[in-house]
Amino acid sequence: MERKVFGLGDVVLMKKPHPCGTNEMEIIRMGMDIRIKCTGCHHSVLIPRAKFEKNMKKVLRSAAGETKE
Ligand SMILES: [Zn+2]
Repeated sequence: MERKVFGLGDVVLMKKPHPCGTNEMEIIRMGMDIRIKCTGCHHSVLIPRAKFEKNMKKVLRSAAGETKE
């Protein structure tokens, strides 16, 4: 299985959309828990890393400079 690579500032695509209808989230804090901010309504949520990795589909834009279109 491929390990998901993500970092601070990355914009990721989630499997489940936010109640506002957007499924793009920006990672704004890394740690035991991950804080992500909805790019649609700017609401932020704190979720455990394991849950985040499970719900995250892919990295759309990497803050490290590498872009995946
Ligand atoms: Zn939202």
